[in-house]
Amino acid sequence: MADYVIKSSKYGQAQGKKDILSMTLPELEKETEALGEKKFRAKQIFSWLHEHSVQSFDEMTNISKSLRDKLESGCAILHTSIEKKLCSEYDNTKKYLLKLDDGEYIESVLMRYKYGQTVCVSTQVGCAMGCKFCASTLDGCVRNLTPSEILCQVYSAERDSGEKISHIVLMGMGEPLENYDNVLRFLELVTDENGKNISMRHISISTCGIVPRIYDLMQKNLQLTLSVSLHAPNDEIRKKMMPIARKYSIAELLKACEDYEKKTHRRISFEYAMVKDVNDSEDCARELAGRLNGTLCHVNLIPVNEVRETGMKKSDEKTVEKFSEILKSQNIAVTVRRKLGSDINASCGQLRRNFSSK
Ligand code: SAH
Repeated sequence: MADYVIKSSKYGQAQGKKDILSMTLPELEKETEALGEKKFRAKQIFSWLHEHSVQSFDEMTNISKSLRDKLESGCAILHTSIEKKLCSEYDNTKKYLLKLDDGEYIESVLMRYKYGQTVCVSTQVGCAMGCKFCASTLDGCVRNLTPSEILCQVYSAERDSGEKISHIVLMGMGEPLENYDNVLRFLELVTDENGKNISMRHISISTCGIVPRIYDLMQKNLQLTLSVSLHAPNDEIRKKMMPIARKYSIAELLKACEDYEKKTHRRISFEYAMVKDVNDSEDCARELAGRLNGTLCHVNLIPVNEVRETGMKKSDEKTVEKFSEILKSQNIAVTVRRKLGSDINASCGQLRRNFSSK
């Protein structure tokens, strides 16, 4: 298991220290005991870090100065700082460009719905999956985010908005199931009752379809929503859009989804980005409906967000509507996704890219 010691010299003074925000409560208990302190102190520290999301040890006012000093010398609290913030004029969506402590940039998005505030977090700096319509992957994957760096996105959005975050979607930059261990640890920390205590049922995790990892996740039997980026009704079209389709066939992927749904009793959510003349025909809709028949699922149709470099154009409204009607007529639950923040490029990767190519 990873020891969560910060290795890279790019983190400056934090190098060689323990990444305390990535530690679970039992680990923190061991740490405080090793420092010659009572175990209950760990719970206090954990609550400062995760419930109150403090950014320095000095803010832990019920912890003695000597313990704070000891913590400071062996551990670091990683941060994300808001480098840029874009606010949509149409809705309350905010997009953040965040700087990590090693100088890398990531993005997160805050969306306001009737039921509460949702933050969309990144799980990697960049992405290696190579989906043809996506901006996050254009420069490849730089590195995985630590559990703490995923958490910081939630804490930073909450601090900036002054309102509690109730829902989380892991749909920002990166492929969550390629950073499996850190993502699982993030889930454990963010749902901890001594921390933000966010309900697992309010968390969605989106994957391009790493089949063996879907089975691993299935064994955990978590109550989160698994969202699968399907984007095509067959392998031929999917391969044109997503390189991962060359590794796992749609048949294998849908079987994994069906098994996942049977085991966890959680409805699968399928993402379908509609690209003009690629995957948006009526035949595609009928083929998709046939494939999904029998799986408890929900389809989200979203006109692709046009990214200049990809050359993919979004389907027109009428085509999306017709596609949706065909799915509905086959008793498939479908929504055309409300497009939040369309004026601020709220799709993954666009902001970081515009920023770093300047
Ligand atoms: N790697 C994961 C999660 C990150 S992407 C995944 O593939 O699911 C989150 C969602 O945004 C995915 O469904 C992805 O296919 C979609 N997406 C990426 N770029 C997009 C774009 N330009 N327009 C519409 N959806 C896009």
